[in-house]
Amino acid sequence: MSFGARALIRLGALTHNLHTIQHAAPGAKVMAVIKANAYGHGMLAVAEQLKGIDSLAVARLPEALELRRAGIETPITLLSGVFSSEELATALEHEFDVVVHCWEQLALIESSLDRALTIWLKIDTGMNRLGFDPRAAGDLIRRLRAANPLGEVRLMTHFADADNLDGALTTEQFRRIAAVVDGFEGAVSLANSAAMLGWPDIADARDRLNFTGDLWVRPGIALYGISPFVGRTGKELGLQPVMQFEARLIARKPLAAGSHVGYKGRYVSDATTQLGIIAAGYGDGYSRHFRDGTPILINGRRVPLIGNVSMDMLAVDLGPDARDAVGDIATLWGDGLPIEEVAPWADAIPYDLVCGIMNRESAKLVTE
Ligand SMILES: *Cc1c(COP(=O)(O)O)cnc(C)c1O
Repeated sequence: MSFGARALIRLGALTHNLHTIQHAAPGAKVMAVIKANAYGHGMLAVAEQLKGIDSLAVARLPEALELRRAGIETPITLLSGVFSSEELATALEHEFDVVVHCWEQLALIESSLDRALTIWLKIDTGMNRLGFDPRAAGDLIRRLRAANPLGEVRLMTHFADADNLDGALTTEQFRRIAAVVDGFEGAVSLANSAAMLGWPDIADARDRLNFTGDLWVRPGIALYGISPFVGRTGKELGLQPVMQFEARLIARKPLAAGSHVGYKGRYVSDATTQLGIIAAGYGDGYSRHFRDGTPILINGRRVPLIGNVSMDMLAVDLGPDARDAVGDIATLWGDGLPIEEVAPWADAIPYDLVCGIMNRESAKLVTE
């Protein structure tokens, strides 16, 4: 290992997490969400590990093309769909499944479809992001089937607040999609990680909904071993963290009481101690928003971050009796220091921390 930061990716944990997730939705087909470089975990390695899955899902066309160029032949779903006839032609050529969420995309499909396509018709049941008004669903299904006689039309929706286990919005969204789905001849997809792990009736909605096709789930964050719920770790949900983010100590020296540390001298030490400098910064994906006191694990103990995080380095208070040596490895999140516990220190959620991992030379994603 070099002296820079690295994100170690445990591919075996991905498979473990997939099995845990499948347990929550027995019989459901799984669309593994690997957008944004697989939440910072390295899209190609993750796709390779999960290639036997029913479908992979990415947000945008270039991500899907990168997967095909790397030889991944697994079905791929474009969660944002296509936006021009060229993009539609590319999707058809590479057999990508597409989400259709707006009238412009419907028009594209009605004007230039020359081959069978698998279409996920997205219904907006209350998130107010992508998707059609539920009242339009019946008409849209008819039109999409007419435009795509050899292909499949499926239904999907997305929950806005499923990580809130008392959320009335989730119940209301489920009620709305159940009405749309009623009597549908085709496949249906509802649940993200939070809905799968927090709402068993939604994860396993087969018996509560009236439709004839497969039920699909769309886990993202849980695949990576991270809990979608604030205040609960992935471990508590039976998941294993996939990412271990770590870096080496590259300096240790005495720090007198009253010394200023780092840019702007924001932190001032209140006692004589030993300063440690660790080779991870916001240029590696360790957020600049982490506050003084953020825990960092080194040689089995937690030490506090002090001062502003730099681009390539951060400072910690190792304590007056520290014996840590240059070259020792510190954990920024991972074993013994769950990302769910660290994230609030940067007013972050684990999603944005892992997506922020930079694949710079010194912060290479290393898989094992
Ligand atoms: C990102 C995404 C998911 C996965 O969400 P998680 O909370 O990471 O499980 C599922 N569905 C859609 C439409 C998404 O955009």
